Amino acid sequence: MSRSPKLLDIHVYGDDVLRLRAAEVETIDDELLQFAKDLTHTMYKRDGVGLAAPQTGVSKRVIVVDPHWSKEGAKREPLVMINPEIESSDGETEMEEGCISVPGIYARVQRASAISVSFTDLSGERRLMKLSGYPAVVVQHEHDHLNGILFVDRLGTIAKLKVKRKLKELERKAVNGVNLRGED
Ligand code: ZN
Repeated sequence: MSRSPKLLDIHVYGDDVLRLRAAEVETIDDELLQFAKDLTHTMYKRDGVGLAAPQTGVSKRVIVVDPHWSKEGAKREPLVMINPEIESSDGETEMEEGCISVPGIYARVQRASAISVSFTDLSGERRLMKLSGYPAVVVQHEHDHLNGILFVDRLGTIAKLKVKRKLKELERKAVNGVNLRGED
């Protein structure tokens, strides 16, 4: 039995769940499929192009991405990746990133410009996908969440200093398990 998708709580900076290595998904059952729907629904509701399970307090290796989606009514093409692994990466790129778990902070982050990523899809099939440019960046950002890494961890020393104060403020506000809605 499936119900309509629900909006999940967003856990923000300072919450321990964002710092854990998320657990592998062992079986794709109804519960997981429902969770994937909730995760996808929440990503769109929060105007995101990607969302990782730990951001909703669920420490499992599941992410959803839709790099081409925009708020202006573009077609939605969500891609749920279960147990994603970055098999290889190539080149370098730098783009401005933000994260609904780190509200109010945006900064340029260096990442690989092309990756090949393997993952299990919702039908249980293992797939390999090559991505470059923005979609590659989005997947790397979400994949980091599964290893307890946030984009602010990847900033250089000077950029880190610039956001340090804001991060401290977020940390002060953080209460584990409370829905802070990822809004300023
Ligand atoms: Zn994020």
